[in-house]
Amino acid sequence: MGFEENTQYQKRYINDSNIRTAFYMSFIVLALELWMIIRYVQQRPGRTFLEYFDGETNYLILFLASLIIASFSFEYTREYETYTLGRIISVSVIALDVIMTARYFIVNSSNTGFGTMLLGAKYHICLMILAVLYMLRWSFSKLEKYREDRYGQVLLTVYCFICIGFGILTSIYDVGKDRQILCFVTMLLFVACMLIWKPYVSTLVLGVAFLYFYALWSKHLHMIDPGDGSLINADRINYFICWIALVMVSTSLYHQRRQEAEKDEGYIKANDNLSRIAIEDEMTGIHNIFHFNQEAAYVLKDSHSVKEKIFLFLNIENFKTYNDQIGYQAGNEYLKKIAHLVQDTFEGDTVARLSDDHFVVLTDASVAESKTEIIRDVIHQTASGVYMELKVGAYRPVDRDLDPRIAIDYARYACGLTKNKFNFNYKEYDADVDQKFHERQYIVNNIDNAINNGYIRPYYQPVVWADSRQFCGSEALARWIDPTYGFLSPAEFIPVLEDNRQIHKLDEYILKCVCKDFRDGLNKGLPIAPVSINFSRLDFELMDVPTKLEEITHEYGISREYIHVEITESALAGDDGLVSDAIDKLHGFGYSVWLDDFGSGYSSLNVLKDYQFDMMKIDMKFLDGFNMDNDAPVILDTIIKLADNLKMMSLTEGVETAEIADFLTKAGCGRLQGYFFAKPMPLQEFREAITNNPNIVTAV
Ligand code: C2E
Ligand code: MG
Ligand code: MG
Repeated sequence: MGFEENTQYQKRYINDSNIRTAFYMSFIVLALELWMIIRYVQQRPGRTFLEYFDGETNYLILFLASLIIASFSFEYTREYETYTLGRIISVSVIALDVIMTARYFIVNSSNTGFGTMLLGAKYHICLMILAVLYMLRWSFSKLEKYREDRYGQVLLTVYCFICIGFGILTSIYDVGKDRQILCFVTMLLFVACMLIWKPYVSTLVLGVAFLYFYALWSKHLHMIDPGDGSLINADRINYFICWIALVMVSTSLYHQRRQEAEKDEGYIKANDNLSRIAIEDEMTGIHNIFHFNQEAAYVLKDSHSVKEKIFLFLNIENFKTYNDQIGYQAGNEYLKKIAHLVQDTFEGDTVARLSDDHFVVLTDASVAESKTEIIRDVIHQTASGVYMELKVGAYRPVDRDLDPRIAIDYARYACGLTKNKFNFNYKEYDADVDQKFHERQYIVNNIDNAINNGYIRPYYQPVVWADSRQFCGSEALARWIDPTYGFLSPAEFIPVLEDNRQIHKLDEYILKCVCKDFRDGLNKGLPIAPVSINFSRLDFELMDVPTKLEEITHEYGISREYIHVEITESALAGDDGLVSDAIDKLHGFGYSVWLDDFGSGYSSLNVLKDYQFDMMKIDMKFLDGFNMDNDAPVILDTIIKLADNLKMMSLTEGVETAEIADFLTKAGCGRLQGYFFAKPMPLQEFREAITNNPNIVTAV
């Protein structure tokens, strides 16, 4: 029966469709009534203008009411505010209605009491209410939607009341002639079936209207024929069935419309969700990068001076530790908080989450740095025991056609330069950075080319026995001598290749070169010694290191004991078994596996506990400012003993002075490597150096 509560959308849907129906219906009624009025006037020629008001005013009332509804529904459906027309209509209707009502009272005052007259003037009064309500619309021109719906409903209800009244009056008048009640039924069809009401409302309205009409009908028939003026049974039954039929039709129409609204709402919600997902970052709820790119391109095109704009790339440094220590869930909550903080701080600007703990912003250059300070302060105050830092890279666009993705790349690169640097948190992309950036691009784009053309070669740095200072092996270190950029050091190209997951290309290539050089030395009968080769942590992800070693050493016929595998300590942080499995496999094949840069990371001792290495290469940082009076000798001494206790061989790299070499020898370190003995050298130079050394003792 419609007692259930409808959603806001359903209410609006039904209301909209009602007003649309009213729009068409009021035009039809307008046309019909105009025709009736013309006919009425034609049939009664010679009357004065005022006299027409005294007769059949019903046509005029319905005509004027329809005029108001037509005008209102036109405004509503077209979302077009015809206030001037609306004012003219409502004022004219009020004026005409005043005249009609006044005439009605004047004509009837002599033979009727005031109460009866008031009742008789009920449709005049309704028209007045309708016209006044419509006039009031000017004063609340900008109604919110909900109130506008209510307002429309009130107008329609008053209009319906007038329509039903008209139907009843016309049909009662007709009954006297040929007993037809068509006008009454037509009006009810319009009111209760074309317009959609809640079923209990339409049942009630139809019930009251039918009862009222029935009462009038019986009374009227009785008046015409006091003898046998009552309704015949067939009429009564038809009349009752007609009521039931209308109730059923209106109820079923209501449910149909409601279902349509429900379905429609579902589609709209699904559509809204899809559009939201398309531009929203799922985790934080702020915009995503797709939206950012679109918006930023638009902002650049629109801004009168692009040079006043700036792209920012924000990175929360050490967020990974927060995640590890506080938990993944808490990490997500924290990111959400920061995302909204970034959005609020840069309110009105283009802001998005790029990925992980990275955010991007397009804002005014003048406020960029100060606003990032606000965010940084909040990050510093995060009471979690984990110290996090906000690192920001910035890029000023130079032309309005710039692709935002490129701008973000630049800003991200500038941000990368602040990495792990204390008190250096904001870096703008400038000419120097630009050169580095392009060098980096060059490295990524030219690694294959450099390998194919032999621009990259291994240099060999000799390693000596600590006791005898005799040569016992070497380390292969990659060098890139480029026709465009000249000499590139591993510190420049290795991190770039790692970032771009291309490092395995280099390491496989160096392994091949070393094996080839080794084979060549063997063929030429030159003195030979083992070579250690550096592998990056990513190599273990990007290729099967043990299998590769097997293939290549086999291809050149090199015995396994001549190739040592160096894995740097930092490679083992966060290892999920990949590296440790590879180490086991390498040991299984018979390779010696060396731990490079021991002591350079945060978890050196854990590494010793969890992994099996044959050699500990002690990081050269322990030799920084070495002096027999500071702590360095004690630390080195302890480390060497530790290696010894763990049955590992030891090698210290970066030995630059005789004093250090002597100390390490006394402390029991097995091997030494460093500029004091020799720098990394190209193959030819290296061969000459070791050939000139009369005491070559190879170590296996
Ligand atoms: P690393 O494996 O620890 O290599 C030792 C680095 O110390 C080399 O730097 C070497 O030239 C330098 N060095 C040796 N003796 C001394 C000394 O007495 N004083 C000073 N100040 N430095 C000394 P390089 O060749 O620049 O290599 C840097 C790092 O790049 C290497 O550190 C290694 O981790 C990496 N690397 C080099 N070549 C390769 C490669 O082919 N593949 C991979 N994955 N990494 C490589
Ligand atoms: Mg090394
Ligand atoms: Mg090292």
